[in-house]
Formats: sequence, structure tokens, C-alpha cells
Amino acid sequence: MKMYEKAPAKINLMLDVLHKRADGFHEVEMIMTMVDLADRLELSELPRDTIIISSQAGYIPLDEKNLAFQAARLIKDRYNVKSGVHIHLDKRIPVAAGLAGGSSDAAATLRGLNRLWRLGIPAQELQELGAELGSDVPFCVTGGTALATGRGEKLTPINNPPQCWVVLAKPPINVSTAEVYGRVRSNNIAVHPSARKMQQAIEAGDFGGVCNHLGNVLEDVTLKLHPEVQQLKEAMIKLGADGVLMSGSGPTVFGLVSKQSKVARIYNGLRGFCKEVYAVRSLN
Ligand code: ATP
Repeated sequence: MKMYEKAPAKINLMLDVLHKRADGFHEVEMIMTMVDLADRLELSELPRDTIIISSQAGYIPLDEKNLAFQAARLIKDRYNVKSGVHIHLDKRIPVAAGLAGGSSDAAATLRGLNRLWRLGIPAQELQELGAELGSDVPFCVTGGTALATGRGEKLTPINNPPQCWVVLAKPPINVSTAEVYGRVRSNNIAVHPSARKMQQAIEAGDFGGVCNHLGNVLEDVTLKLHPEVQQLKEAMIKLGADGVLMSGSGPTVFGLVSKQSKVARIYNGLRGFCKEVYAVRSLN
């Protein structure tokens, strides 16, 4: 038996760090939404008790370090599944980009194996399993648009997000999420973005309001470490994107664009700056 599952990328429309907790995690407030840039997973049942990961992407781990592997292991152990699975990851989402590619692969694995092995696990329980794998995985299990609090695992869905184009550009630099969070000083953040105002704008279908309330407190850290991310933001604004922000800990920068007629110009203009540029639709 074989099954396919789509694993879309997420972007952060806002990201605030409230404080560092005793357990080492940061207490965050984030509004995330999915975009139509996705990895595709092919899940094939194996008769023997084994998990195999393969991918055309040469630069991700294929062993137990892969989040899809960890998701498969978790579900096999927890539900005592004896058969195995071969998961082929057709990677399209840039890796270590702030787009939660690995988390989305893990979430898609949970959804896909739930179907493949007919386990009937309810969505809430799949999210709880996801939280054991990583802070962004619960959101990726259900997708859509949501406010995420706690360390990212407590989710409140947000309805009615305005549709738009999203142009994403990833400069060729490596950003370590752990390093960026390690450098954030939560008591020293000049401007906190407002989750409430962003949520209101989304619920009102107010595209201009969404653009006005974009904000990510991790930008200060990443932009200092990598000035080219700032240059990319400026280029995107100059080319006419309606709202521009770095996603997660970066380095991917995205631009929200309401008019299709502007998308090609922004896309082509950015290709002069970096190789990895995508123009996709928001996904709700
Ligand atoms: P986030 O936005 O959640 O911080 P990210 O987009 O910055 O995530 P990922 O693409 O998820 O980062 O990759 C981070 C690291 O995780 C990579 O360096 C890679 O070695 C490892 N990894 C494990 N599993 C996967 C996977 N299935 N796909 C991509 N990377 C993976």
C-alpha cells in the first residue's frame, strides 16, 4: 500500500518572545499560516519492522535525526504497529530556512501513517504527539492559520485570512535557530508586535491591516548577524511588496502581495539577489 501526503511550509505573520522559561524554552506568541510551497511525502508500507527514509535532497539527515523518522518511530511505538514504512521525502521547502520544513514533514508523517495504518487517531491526539517532536509540529498537523502560544504548541485557529500571493526569498546563508533564540534578550525588545491586532486584521479580512501589523522580534538578532537579510527586505519593499517580514529565525524573507500583476516583477527582481525565490499562494 502506498500513500502521498503534502507537507506545506509555514510563515510567521508575527512572532514575539515573551520570556525565557525555567525549562529553557522561550514563551512565545506567534501567528502562523501555511503557504503553497510544499514537500511531498510518499509513504509505502513495508512488511518488516523497519523505517527507511530517502530523499533526493542530499543535505538532510536520513537516519533517526530526520524528523519524519522520529514521527514514524513515535507512532509505531505508541500504537504498537509491527509493520514498517519507507518514507520518500520529495523536498521542495528550503532547509533551515525558517519555514518549518522538517516540522511539516514530521506532521505529514503523523497524518499519513494515521491513514496508512488505519489508526483512527483524532486530530487533537496527533497534535499532542507532534508536540513531543518539536514546537512547530502541532501547528503543522492541522495547518490553516493559528495563534500559537506556550512554546508554540498551544493553538487557537484563526478564521477567514485574506488570500494573497507570497513571494519567498532565501539568501544562501545558514542561520541556527538555537543561536538566534540564544541571543534574544526578552527584557530588551524595543517594539513588541501585537498578536491581538494581527488576529483582528486577519478575522476582518483586512489585507492592509495584516501588512501593517507584520512583526518578528527575531529579526533584530538575525539582521545583525546577517546584513544581507536586511538588504533583501529593502529590495522586496522597493520592488513593491505590500508587506515584508523575515519568517521564524530566518533567513527567508517573505513579501505579501495582493495584485497578481506585481508578482512577476518582484520575483524577477529578487532573482538578481538570490537563487532561491518562490512565488506561491497563501493556503487558506
Ligand atoms: P523552523 O522554522 O521550525 O525553525 P527551519 O525551516 O528553520 O525550521 P528545517 O528545514 O526544519 O529548519 O531544518 C532544520 C534542521 O533539521 C536541518 O538542518 C536538518 O538537518 C534537520 N532535519 C531533520 N529532519 C528534516 C527534514 N525532514 N527536512 C529538513 N530538515 C530536517
